[in-house]
Amino acid sequence: MMQNDVVVIGGGISGLSLAFYCVKAGMKTTMLEKNDTIGGSFASPHYNANGKKFWLELGAHTCYSSYQNLLDIVEACGIKDKIIPRAKVPFSLFIDGKVKSIVSQLNILELLSSAPNIFKLKKEGQSVKSYYSKIVGEKNYREVISHFFNAVPSQLTDDFPADMMFKSREKRKDVLKNYTFKEGLQSVARAISAQSGLNVFTSQEVTSIKYVDDLYEIRTANGGEYSAKTLVLATPSMVTSKLLRDIKPEISSHLGQLKAADVDSLGVIVRKENISLKPVAALISPNDVFFSVVSRDTVPDDNYRGFVFHFKPGLDDKTKRTRVTEVLGVSFSKIEHTFSKVNTVPSLRLGHHQWLEKTNILLKKEKSLLLTGNYFGGMAIEDCVSRSRSEFDRMKG
Ligand SMILES: Cc1cc2nc3c(=O)[nH]c(=O)nc-3n(C[C@H](O)[C@H](O)[C@H](O)COP(=O)(O)OP(=O)(O)OC[C@H]3O[C@@H](n4cnc5c(N)ncnc54)[C@H](O)[C@@H]3O)c2cc1C
Repeated sequence: MMQNDVVVIGGGISGLSLAFYCVKAGMKTTMLEKNDTIGGSFASPHYNANGKKFWLELGAHTCYSSYQNLLDIVEACGIKDKIIPRAKVPFSLFIDGKVKSIVSQLNILELLSSAPNIFKLKKEGQSVKSYYSKIVGEKNYREVISHFFNAVPSQLTDDFPADMMFKSREKRKDVLKNYTFKEGLQSVARAISAQSGLNVFTSQEVTSIKYVDDLYEIRTANGGEYSAKTLVLATPSMVTSKLLRDIKPEISSHLGQLKAADVDSLGVIVRKENISLKPVAALISPNDVFFSVVSRDTVPDDNYRGFVFHFKPGLDDKTKRTRVTEVLGVSFSKIEHTFSKVNTVPSLRLGHHQWLEKTNILLKKEKSLLLTGNYFGGMAIEDCVSRSRSEFDRMKG
């Protein structure tokens, strides 16, 4: 059995950032990832066309100057010079087969009469629907704005806690307000996984964990066996809950209270000359079979354009392909390459802060068990890295 100081289960940004802190502290660290690549919702696969690479984001696509913990890691990995700006192209609506601006769909009178509420109302204790329908007006919220909110975690967000949707954080002045990386966000994942002292094993789905003589024994579906003094679980909440069922039943059942949604994403790559759609950052189509179509037009390429459709779960291939061709106005034969991925995102609800407080109380006596992920302080990349940072500090403190 391979012995380690730390085993990290899950190779998304939560697991990667915590692994980064551990290796920097000189701990022998192993990461186990179920998929054949690391990155999780932070994955930018490449299409190789005539010796040139074209990447596409199948999950997260934008980082901000307020992502201070992430930026610290980016700097420590020596890839700050790989940060690039995103082209200013619009987020638009797709209604009745036509691309429309957001402003054209808003009731401006309702907006102007509601907007002053922003100075009076507090987000704390309010759902996204109750808070934002007072800020933009009920009709504007229902017909336009709610669809943009739903596009963020690719699910209905009416009941999300308003203060967990968009957070204001201190910004760094020396970094672009919003940005990506030369080869997509996965550049960060690759840079972390290349750190010396970190062993990364992909295609390793962890199926069981035992705790024997102060050591965690971790087994994977294909027969891998690892042991560690400290265990990091950086998997979606229901996976973490399942893996902890036998060794930490109370924590497992507490995690089991959370809900999550699967996002079924289909990325398509088209030669530029085959598509006439004007450049967009994303298309949102109210009440459609997808939550959003995120485009690569934010980092234009000489030859190709790419679009990722974040579909509602449970659709068959034919339905998805048909909608892709209708929205892009190209036949499927003109699509040169496709990528698919299913990501998991938390379905946060009011009361999450109390849930989190209880989680941290339960973990107080568990110095060798660290839990991170996108279901603690929020689902943005910076929330994940901040959670990893505070779990690392808890272990050290
Ligand atoms: C479509 C989409 C767009 C987004 N856009 C943005 C954005 O622009 N900006 C932003 O800040 N945030 C964005 N987010 C949110 C952010 O990307 C995610 O919350 C974050 O990347 C999640 O990271 P994570 O490591 O917690 O989870 P994940 O990325 O889900 O990683 C968990 C990993 O655990 C692995 N795993 C699961 N089970 C096992 C097992 N049994 N054994 C081993 N490994 C296992 C999974 O394969 C996965 O790789 C977006 C999310 C999505 C889905």
